[in-house]
Amino acid sequence: MEKRIAVLPGDGIGKEVVQGAIEVLKAVGERYNHQFSFAFAEIGGSAYDSTGVPLPEETIKICKESDAVLLGAVGGPKYDTVPVHLRPEQGLLQIRKALNLFANLRPTTYFASLADSSPLRKEIIEGVDMLMVRELTGGIYFGQPRERREVNGKEAVVDTLYYERDEIERVIRQAFELAKTRKKKVTSVDKANVLESSRLWREVAVEISKDYPEITLEHMLVDNGAMQLVRNPKQFDVVVTENMFGDILSDEASVLTGSLGMLPSASISEEGPYLYEPIHGSAPDIAGKNIANPLATILSAAMMLKVSFGLDEEAAAIEKAVNSVLDAGFRTGDIMSEGKTQVSTTEMTEEVKKAL
Ligand code: ATP
Ligand code: MG
Repeated sequence: MEKRIAVLPGDGIGKEVVQGAIEVLKAVGERYNHQFSFAFAEIGGSAYDSTGVPLPEETIKICKESDAVLLGAVGGPKYDTVPVHLRPEQGLLQIRKALNLFANLRPTTYFASLADSSPLRKEIIEGVDMLMVRELTGGIYFGQPRERREVNGKEAVVDTLYYERDEIERVIRQAFELAKTRKKKVTSVDKANVLESSRLWREVAVEISKDYPEITLEHMLVDNGAMQLVRNPKQFDVVVTENMFGDILSDEASVLTGSLGMLPSASISEEGPYLYEPIHGSAPDIAGKNIANPLATILSAAMMLKVSFGLDEEAAAIEKAVNSVLDAGFRTGDIMSEGKTQVSTTEMTEEVKKAL
């Protein structure tokens, strides 16, 4: 198979972890006889430094001409004084819009050999296998108006939570499609006791569920959902929710079974290409030291093989290699514990390649 992958390393550890994923993809290509080519492009602070904007047109073009996009991370303290609309994080919001990435998929799976590094007891997290589906291009992060005003001589502010029915439909339908291949349960998270947008969300969820009689639909209020995630995460299979709730809950879910450095994500659209990235940020505190954990990005590459290219066996091979490296006791600093072997970013990548 021949595939072209756009690579957007971004800032901080983004550059380091993306390198790890590329090497693993190359190794998979060699072993399974696929030609993966890589087209590099700029995003975030490094794009701002060289072009004056966090998402140059050229980057969008390269992404659109590719079969999938691999992204590192953006941001850093260096850009704190840059005007808000040119900050690195804007690059991320803009690429989501430009590629129409309406749903963000974040799996949370249990790594037996990392059970000790979770803040939760083993019996609570053992066997957790959930998939959070977060709406990504609508809601309060994009709605207009969003501004400060003076009202009756007082300082006031407004953000707008806006959704069109279509936008809600496509993300909920996606969640049901994904549930088909899993444990056949969808939990729709909303705040329907307070928000009008959530009442429409719930209505749409019920409607769509009629097309999927084999799948159980459950509604949960977001405040309860936040509690249930740490009380009894095993009750969840696919969780679908709007943009801001999903932002908060998916970070919460990420600590259930391990470090930020372990968790991949995929963002999908109707037309492609899809974008794959670790859920962690640019981690300025450890950038440039060759100590970041590359596994989240390597696992994001595995998601790419499975979701974008249909290469299930190759994806499983990466996941298996990651698990065996962990079982063998190799750890980057973020997941280090007593009696294990601490390795650098590049050493961890080497171990995964060896295990492949
Ligand atoms: P952002 O706003 O971009 O999401 P953030 O403030 O949430 O950034 P991160 O960059 O995700 O922060 O980092 C949070 C903490 O986790 C930092 O201390 C960082 O060093 C650590 N961390 C994040 N990713 C990794 C990784 N891949 N390996 C090791 N440590 C990491
Ligand atoms: Mg963050």
